[in-house]
Amino acid sequence: MSKRNHQIVPLRAIDKPMAAGFPTGSLTAQGAGASLGVCRQASGLNLTSPAQVREWCVLHDFHPNRTLGQNFLIDRNILEAIVDAAGVRPGQRILEIGPGLGVVTAELLCRGARVTAIEKDHRLAARLAEVFGSEPGLQLIAADALEVDLDALLAEPFDALVSNLPYSVGTRILLEIAMHVPAPPVLTVTVQLEVAERFAAGPGEEARGQTGVWLQRLYDVELVRGIKPTCFWPKPEVSSALVRLTRHDRHALSPEESARYLALTKYAFMHRRKQLAASLRNAPDGLQLETAVAQELLVACGADPRVRAEDLDVTQWCALVRAWTA
Ligand code: SAM
Repeated sequence: MSKRNHQIVPLRAIDKPMAAGFPTGSLTAQGAGASLGVCRQASGLNLTSPAQVREWCVLHDFHPNRTLGQNFLIDRNILEAIVDAAGVRPGQRILEIGPGLGVVTAELLCRGARVTAIEKDHRLAARLAEVFGSEPGLQLIAADALEVDLDALLAEPFDALVSNLPYSVGTRILLEIAMHVPAPPVLTVTVQLEVAERFAAGPGEEARGQTGVWLQRLYDVELVRGIKPTCFWPKPEVSSALVRLTRHDRHALSPEESARYLALTKYAFMHRRKQLAASLRNAPDGLQLETAVAQELLVACGADPRVRAEDLDVTQWCALVRAWTA
């Protein structure tokens, strides 16, 4: 699917921000005079008060959408933990995916960050436009983050991504951003606990898989803390975790090697129970290798020739790809 260019228009061009749809896909707040009052008490609403969030939803006939992962953060301690973990400083450029009612957005603005927030739900985007319309530090894009043109979005680099990601597409969104050049050097996100464990899993662990191997090649992954379901409304059925990913350059690959790294690990984890060298004999063109040749490559990379995908660390995967591509 081709990515859409997002056009940004001034917030004040929107006559009725609470209308169901927007005339265009994007908005930006460019007014003067940000006020901390607006930040903390968006439109008189305390976003870490479950009662007030519920009341706002009832009043506006807003039913949180499960498919869009609309579980709003309602816990002040977790909110501060997220923004603290990101190390947000005044003047930094922060990307937020899925601002929702704006609880994280407001805290980021309060700390002096300049925020670009992308929200898919047009009713929520409309509310944010109404509440934060006078905030000079906020650029709001009403769009699906998976359809935004990342070349255009990331052309001016961000200092960090800070997001309470929607469960359904959180991993896809994170991977797309993390693997883009230039990606933000720090990614601080909340995701489902099980997903966070996959991001961080080391060799031999049950949760080891393609996502972790892709992220860990580019970022150091830390599970900062767990988050109980009661910290969100509506309460999800699963626990969450706060994860911080910090960019490193320990595993640099050429574009050709990088493409093979992605294809090889994807194929290998689809056949995770088989020995890697044996499974490559039946791989598609470009990845196919005779078992004996694959075993030789593995030995040259310091690995056991009978190894399975989940046993290799990122250094070994990179060595394998470099030796193969040379
Ligand atoms: N940041 C808010 C908070 O912490 O309360 C809301 C977080 S909620 C878990 C996820 C948000 O992502 C929702 O506002 C949802 O509408 C939005 N969302 C879901 N899919 C999206 C997508 N593909 N692109 C942009 N936003 C999306």
